[in-house]
Amino acid sequence: MSHSEVAQRLEGESLDKVTVWRVLVALTEAGLVDRSNGGDGTWRFELRSGSMGHDPHPHFTCVVCKTVTCLPRESVRIPPRIVRGVVDVQITGRCESCD
Ligand SMILES: [Zn+2]
Ligand SMILES: [Zn+2]
Repeated sequence: MSHSEVAQRLEGESLDKVTVWRVLVALTEAGLVDRSNGGDGTWRFELRSGSMGHDPHPHFTCVVCKTVTCLPRESVRIPPRIVRGVVDVQITGRCESCD
């Protein structure tokens, strides 16, 4: 979810957007949430307890509907001789429903 999506869900909870942002950053720093740049310049936050666990994994972002999907780690292979310690892999394209 992006910051604005989280803020939208919390509307009426008397939390302003800045507070929501600070909480998201704090959760990221505490290691409970992973943050990734969705290729469109928008930060998205993801709970670490998901099925993907703590492993960094690639994300697919649909350029039409902006839906972000977690991809299995092994769906992208980068030769270790080229890159060590991959932090973020973003793939963009059209999802099945927008094709
Ligand atoms: Zn789509
Ligand atoms: Zn993910």
